[in-house]
Amino acid sequence: MGSAALATDPGWRREIEEKVYSGERLSREDGEALYACDDLSWLGRLAHHRRTELNGDRVMFNVNRHLNLTNVCSASCAYCSFQRKPGEKTAYTMRIEEAVAKAKEMEGEVLTELHIVNGLHPTLPWRYYPRVLRALKEALPGVSLKAFTATEIHCFERIAGLTP
Ligand code: SF4
Repeated sequence: MGSAALATDPGWRREIEEKVYSGERLSREDGEALYACDDLSWLGRLAHHRRTELNGDRVMFNVNRHLNLTNVCSASCAYCSFQRKPGEKTAYTMRIEEAVAKAKEMEGEVLTELHIVNGLHPTLPWRYYPRVLRALKEALPGVSLKAFTATEIHCFERIAGLTP
């Protein structure tokens, strides 16, 4: 039986429940069928059981703030109201010091992650990006940097001549 069919099989579901509630390890086949399962409330109930068994009522929150280094973008995605073309009145690109100052403003007492997403700037040199990440990490060593979309990585690949 394939994963999708297994995921809807009541017998398999009972087996999974027994395994989860008794702490038995799941098989690879179980994992693949769980991945194919779209019954989110059933999955959620099992996952919640396992999570509270491991961690009780302890929960962690990620405090995430966005930092957009530039809104200048050579693409024109139809849904995007963020991007500006070079020379537009509201187009901006942060200098590295500006990016660090902005991040420090957001740091507060609890910031745990900076989420960095940008336009695909047509002329910013590749070296700008690692430099800005280094400067941010130096200024906020305890904050995780979650940076760049796949489209941006693709753009860097072109301007840097490096592999992804
Ligand atoms: S690549 Fe990103 S910033 Fe540029 S237009 Fe598309 S969504 Fe907007």
